[in-house]
Amino acid sequence: MQIEGGCYCGSVRYRAEGEPLFRVHCYCRICQFMSGGSPNVVMGMPEDGFVYTEGAPEGYSPNNSADPATREFCPKCGTHLLGRSPERPQAVFLKVGTFDDPSLFGGPEAAMFLCEKQSFHHVPEGVPTFERGPTQSED
Ligand SMILES: [Zn+2]
Ligand SMILES: [Zn+2]
Repeated sequence: MQIEGGCYCGSVRYRAEGEPLFRVHCYCRICQFMSGGSPNVVMGMPEDGFVYTEGAPEGYSPNNSADPATREFCPKCGTHLLGRSPERPQAVFLKVGTFDDPSLFGGPEAAMFLCEKQSFHHVPEGVPTFERGPTQSED
């Protein structure tokens, strides 16, 4: 699969090639900030198939163990493009809204962090759900 995408203003563009590693909806509180209030819709793509083709993003990491991720966004229009996690360095966590064709997402394989879901969020039916991440035990 090849995905082309970029930010709202067009300053930053990327291409991601390879087989998708995961497709998720994440309802965590942090994703609500980054998405504008909805769950985040994320497709994991191989880091070694990912390249920025125009412009350069800014990155932000809170540098704490509770949230070790770095999130990259357009310095001009502020669109969040992707996240990177030291727990999964072989993947880039692409924001599906930045795809030229968001329908390439297809649909989620999992819904994560339902522990922080809002009452106005809707979880798709027939999708495995996790109180936290799929790699963490349910509690
Ligand atoms: Zn932009
Ligand atoms: Zn999240």
